[in-house]
Amino acid sequence: MERKEVIKLFKEIVKELGLEGIRIRIVPMKRKIASFSFKTKTLRVNRRVTELLDYELVRYIILHELVHFKINDANHGKRFLKNLGNITPKKMRKKSK
Ligand SMILES: [Zn+2]
Repeated sequence: MERKEVIKLFKEIVKELGLEGIRIRIVPMKRKIASFSFKTKTLRVNRRVTELLDYELVRYIILHELVHFKINDANHGKRFLKNLGNITPKKMRKKSK
């Protein structure tokens, strides 16, 4: 995806989750796909990755990171999965089963 599209998608997801004051930085990263800083409320997404992936996958990556922020939990426990499940499109939920 192009940078412009990623930013647009990011804004849509932030709105969908009812979050505020979150920034995105699309930067080349060596080892990670994405990371979220609770401290600066900044989502960092690896530019090398977004350039390669399509809409659905980039959407999933952004959602994943922002759900961590929404529930204020960096782990992947039940609460995280429940929240992510609620906002993942049915189409994708089926695939992951
Ligand atoms: Zn995670």
